[in-house]
Amino acid sequence: MSTGFPLSRTTKPVPEAERAAILAAPGFGRYFTDHMASAVWTLDGGWHDSKVGPLEPFTLHPSAAVLHYAQEIFEGLKAYRHADGSVWLFRPEANARRFARSAKRLALPELPKEDFLASVEELIRADEPWVPRSTGEESLYLRPFMFASEAFLGVRPAARVIYSVIASPAGPYFASGVTGVTLWVSSKYTRSARGGTGAAKCGGNYAASLAAQIEAEQHGCDQVMYLDSAGEGDLEESGTMNLCLITSDGRLVTPALGTILEGVTRDTILALAADFGLTPVERSVSLNELRSGAADGSITEVFAAGTAAVVTPIVGFRGDGYEFTIGNGAPGKQTVALREHVLDIQYGRAEDKHGWMRRV
Ligand code: PMP
Repeated sequence: MSTGFPLSRTTKPVPEAERAAILAAPGFGRYFTDHMASAVWTLDGGWHDSKVGPLEPFTLHPSAAVLHYAQEIFEGLKAYRHADGSVWLFRPEANARRFARSAKRLALPELPKEDFLASVEELIRADEPWVPRSTGEESLYLRPFMFASEAFLGVRPAARVIYSVIASPAGPYFASGVTGVTLWVSSKYTRSARGGTGAAKCGGNYAASLAAQIEAEQHGCDQVMYLDSAGEGDLEESGTMNLCLITSDGRLVTPALGTILEGVTRDTILALAADFGLTPVERSVSLNELRSGAADGSITEVFAAGTAAVVTPIVGFRGDGYEFTIGNGAPGKQTVALREHVLDIQYGRAEDKHGWMRRV
């Protein structure tokens, strides 16, 4: 493609006063900016019609493949406003690469990295006033996605696909984010199997997670902690976050890749671990190890890592007939320090030694 995403501005933007009221309390995923980016792919013509235009509904034929077979993928990343007013993305190339991997797994066409970046950046430029002036953790959440729009009921990769990006101002993901969350260890549901779609960011994974999320909430928990589907009792990840443990001998342990999503925040934490005197380790971790480590104090802190939730302390776990806390049930010191450091990099308050920030 590489023709860019030329802007045609909306004639009906959200009035300034209304936008200011939204930005004062954005919540998560509820309000959307004035514009959207989009492009179309056809088997015959490849990518074309790339643009940024007014935010508007799609028109889909009722037989559109995505509505029946869930041939869909998405990404999630944030734009941060720094104190000098400039706007920055955090590691967007990593999201572009993951989007391409997800596309491959779902038999969707690959969107070139340059087009992924251009679409996100042109949309942010069009909706620049929507990037919050952060007082805490506010940002503009970007949601690139791609779906099969061909009107055809046969089960095969669609010959017509739509790519789009929408943007939504965001505050903290969990109201209890800094005080810590509790996870429900599901023994009924799993998230992915070997050879399945666990490593792809596809809508179907999240559709399948909803019944488990209901189960978690019925048990008074914030999210699900998934175990492996082979019945080994290995920890995988939560519904929207990767899992990390800190041990008393100075290791930062996170489940190895394979059936989990390769989180950008997870990778960031692994890269930062050494600065906090921690040795990063990727390996399988069983629920039994977590329970006994929490009981004997050899696991001192647990947290979850993700774009929306940044670094969120996990203070306790519940499952069928048991529950346990981590440490004294309060957020761990290193968890809080890591969280602050990631936020400091993202908001331009700490040196970006790894070159992760990209100015829009
Ligand atoms: N696991 C799952 C299942 C997720 O949905 C997410 C959110 N994208 C993550 C982990 C964390 O990934 P990232 O740090 O890239 O947001």
